[in-house]
Amino acid sequence: MDATKAADAPAIGWGVIGASTIAREYMVDAIRRTGGEPLWLMSRDDTHRAGFAHELGIPQHSAELAGMLADERVKAVYVSSINSLHRPQVIKAAQAGKHILCDKPLATRAADALKMVKACDKAGVVLAVNHHFRSSPVHQTMRRMIAAGDIGEVRSLIIIHAGLLRPVLQTWRIKDPDEGAIYLDLSVHDIDLASFLLQQQPRTAIGIGDALALGDASAHDHTMYALRMSGGAFVQVNESFVTPDVESQVMAYGSEGILIASGTLAQRSTGTLVRRLRGRNEAIPLRANDIYADTVEQFLAAIEGRGEPRATGRDGLASLAGAEAVARAVKTRKSVEIKVPE
Ligand code: NDP
Repeated sequence: MDATKAADAPAIGWGVIGASTIAREYMVDAIRRTGGEPLWLMSRDDTHRAGFAHELGIPQHSAELAGMLADERVKAVYVSSINSLHRPQVIKAAQAGKHILCDKPLATRAADALKMVKACDKAGVVLAVNHHFRSSPVHQTMRRMIAAGDIGEVRSLIIIHAGLLRPVLQTWRIKDPDEGAIYLDLSVHDIDLASFLLQQQPRTAIGIGDALALGDASAHDHTMYALRMSGGAFVQVNESFVTPDVESQVMAYGSEGILIASGTLAQRSTGTLVRRLRGRNEAIPLRANDIYADTVEQFLAAIEGRGEPRATGRDGLASLAGAEAVARAVKTRKSVEIKVPE
């Protein structure tokens, strides 16, 4: 983070759409740490919204988007409402000429996500998706090492992304099937991470899933699935909201050696990376960063024409198409071909 730049540059005006836990705990702070000034909050519930705006020091707030979108000081918006609201909010923001950082999943259906991508293209605004695992120094190093052939040809990638869903989050995400349950919560992240690490796209999905404790038959809280990737690698993923005390693992098995990332699937820059070659372990030293601020920084750079966001709208569309295919594979008990709508 370039703190000097943040202090000297004029503040970028932001609108915050959704008075959510992630906005409260991480993203409003990340916006400020990267030189932004949250000017508006849009949220539906009057009491919750007023308390949130007061707590986070956001000067203006409304249950409608109109005031925020008409305010010319607002250059960018961050969307972290419930999943099903992302589509209408992103499309309205794009039509108002605002650049958009949208939390994952981009939408609840890939067909809707495509409409959002097209609306942003048409308006000439940047659309980024908060797939923050791309910002982890461990994952970036893994991607570089895999691309450089440091473990030979990657044949399998195993992702274990499990834990106990915090009680405060055991609401719409696991109670309302239209919000996509574990598939639109964790699978989008893990499919995006697999594509990012391997630089291959998922082509086929098979899987099993169930509701063991928190969800119901139409809102699963536990899943295990496999993907065949475009370059031939196999990806195997276990995700759960109901298995406490699991440390996440991301393991790439290659023809020459393996990479093991432990504890990296988190909201802070945590975890370790080990390379094993010919039976010997080597710890790869890495410096932690601020992963959400890194995502915001890359989004701001893209607005200024310096590169692409860490995850573009099309990356968010691809991860959603993959998660949709996993959910369909679980439901139909068949292998599903993954097609990203164009
Ligand atoms: P929350 O459940 O905390 O909040 C979602 C929405 O619910 C809020 O935007 C608000 O609606 C409403 N809400 C929440 N609390 C209250 C309350 N006390 N009273 C009234 N309304 C309330 O969502 P999360 O922070 O868990 O997730 C938000 C989005 O961010 C989701 O799309 C999720 O997938 C994504 N996410 C991404 C993460 C990442 O690391 N990239 C991590 C966690 C979540 P309103 O929109 O009207 O303000």
